[in-house]
Amino acid sequence: MKKITQPIKDSYNRRIDYLRVSITDKCNLKCIYCMPSKGLKYFKESEVLTDEEIVRFVRIAHNHGLRKVRITGGEPLVRKNILQLVSSLKKTGIRDLSLTTNGMLLAGLAGDLKQAGLDRVNISLDTMDAKIYRKITKEGDIERVWESIREAERVNLTPVKINVVPIRGINDGEISSFASLTLKNNFHIRFIEFMPASCNGVWAKDKCVSSAEILKQISGLGNLERLKFKGRGPSRNYRFKGAAGVIGIISPLSDHFCGYCNRLRLTADGKIRPCLFSKDEVDIKTPMREGASDDEMEKLFLRAVKIKPQRHLLNEDPSAGGHLKAMSKIGG
Ligand code: SAM
Ligand code: SF4
Repeated sequence: MKKITQPIKDSYNRRIDYLRVSITDKCNLKCIYCMPSKGLKYFKESEVLTDEEIVRFVRIAHNHGLRKVRITGGEPLVRKNILQLVSSLKKTGIRDLSLTTNGMLLAGLAGDLKQAGLDRVNISLDTMDAKIYRKITKEGDIERVWESIREAERVNLTPVKINVVPIRGINDGEISSFASLTLKNNFHIRFIEFMPASCNGVWAKDKCVSSAEILKQISGLGNLERLKFKGRGPSRNYRFKGAAGVIGIISPLSDHFCGYCNRLRLTADGKIRPCLFSKDEVDIKTPMREGASDDEMEKLFLRAVKIKPQRHLLNEDPSAGGHLKAMSKIGG
C-alpha cells in the first residue's frame, strides 16, 4: 500500500481528514434524545469490531491523510481495554485523538487516558440541575459529571468541551447559564441543535432551539465576537470579549454545515457511514474477516469517501433522519 500523506478530497472537493469511531453501542445512560425509552437491543459481542480491526482501519485511513479521530459510542468508556485501544490508536500517528463521553466513568480514568495518548475530551452535560439531569439521562449522576470535568482539566485533556443539546421545555432556560461558564473558565461550550434521532417520539420541530435563538438568548451577556474559522468542522465559534472560554454552535437543522463537512463515521459493527444521515454504508467488517488485504481495505475507505453525499436533507424534511433508530448506534 502506497503511503499518501495528503488528505483526500471527496466528489465535492471537501477534504476528508476526520473519522468518528463508535467503539460500542452500549451505554450506561438512556438519554431521552438519543435512545428509545424501552432501551435497545445491543449488538452481540461478535458483531462489534475488535481493537485490532479498528486500529487496522484507522492506520489505513491515516495513510490517506486522516488527521483526527474521535472515539464515541454508546458510552466509549464502558468498553473493555479502553486504555489499550487509545494507546494503539495514538500509535497509528493520528495527530488529534479525542473522545466524547457522558462523564459517568471519566473521573477515574482521565489520567490514564491522557497517558495512553488521548489529547482531549468532550463531555455531555445538558443541564446544571440534578433533577433535570436525571430526567434527561434516566440513570445519571450529575456530581460525577462535574468531577469528570474537573479531573479532565487537571490532567490536561483540554480544552474541555461541554456538549449541550437545548430542548424547549426541558433545559432551554439554561442556555445563558452555560454560556456564562465561559466567562471565567476555559471551557468550550458547544450547543448542538436537537436532531430527530431517538425514535421515541421525543423529537418535535418546536422543541428544537435554533442557533439564531441561542445567539439571541446569550447576546445580553456581553460583547460576543465571532472567531475566525480555525480548522474545519461544523462548529461556528464565538467568544465574549475578554472571556476565558469559547462558545460553539452546531446547527445541523437550521443552517447545515455540509459544505465544509470533513468527516466519516465508523459504526461499532463495522460500517462506514459517509454522513450521519445517509442510508448508504460501506461494510468493512465482512471483507476484513474474510481476509481482505490492506489494498482492498484501502479501496473500501476510498469508496466511502466517494459516496459521501453533497448534503443531508434534514432541514427541509426532518423525517430524513427517521432511519436513525438511536444516535447511540451511530455515535452522534
Ligand atoms: N455517550 C457519549 C456522550 O453522551 O457523550 C457519546 C455518544 S453520544 C451519542 C454523542 C453526542 O451526541 C452527545 O454529546 C449527545 O448529547 C449527542 N446527541 C445524542 N442524541 C442527540 C440528538 N438527538 N440531537 C443532538 N445531539 C444528540
Ligand atoms: Fe448514552 Fe451518550 Fe446516548 Fe446519552 S447521549 S444515551 S450517554 S450514548
